[in-house]
Amino acid sequence: MSSLEKEYNKLIEQRNKIIEEIKSFKESETVKKYLELTRLNEELYNQQLSLYKRIKEEKYTSCKHILVISEIGGDRYHGHSHKSRGCIKCGLNDKVLSFNRNELSPSEKIMYDCLKKDLHRLRGIETKVACDLTLACAIYKEIKETYPNIDDETTVEYFNTTLKTIRNNSHKDEIAKRLKLDSNYNVWYGRDVYND
Ligand SMILES: [Zn+2]
Repeated sequence: MSSLEKEYNKLIEQRNKIIEEIKSFKESETVKKYLELTRLNEELYNQQLSLYKRIKEEKYTSCKHILVISEIGGDRYHGHSHKSRGCIKCGLNDKVLSFNRNELSPSEKIMYDCLKKDLHRLRGIETKVACDLTLACAIYKEIKETYPNIDDETTVEYFNTTLKTIRNNSHKDEIAKRLKLDSNYNVWYGRDVYND
């Protein structure tokens, strides 16, 4: 027997011992309980995911959207630019449609599927304002907290005023803290957007 074969047989022997040990563990009540709990946890997680999907779908379909231009993509100097639009209330935005579905996160996939099902779903009040969507949603949230019963038209007015104030304010960190955003929240001003 070559030394390699000897080594090989030794490994098999070692593994067999371990396999026996694993088998005996599987019979233990603690391990049985562990496996059962793992299975239950997985089951509940799947239910949680599917419920999350339904909650999001319901939110997107029932929302009377207020839309901002949430991002500019492509190269507008060569005529290939495109604008993404997003809702400041529910966060639905059509940026996801410019990606391959496989590249998206689970939450983005839900948006993607919703929009693909009905491409006209992203209809609502067009503010024509260009604003980072995270910032826009944070402003909307704050307005809603202060004036819970406000109508959409007034919301848009307050939104525009608040955004203007924020953009002219030099106390960036204070605002970021108040809106619970990263300090780079104001990085995209949308200055070079054509509001056509
Ligand atoms: Zn919406």
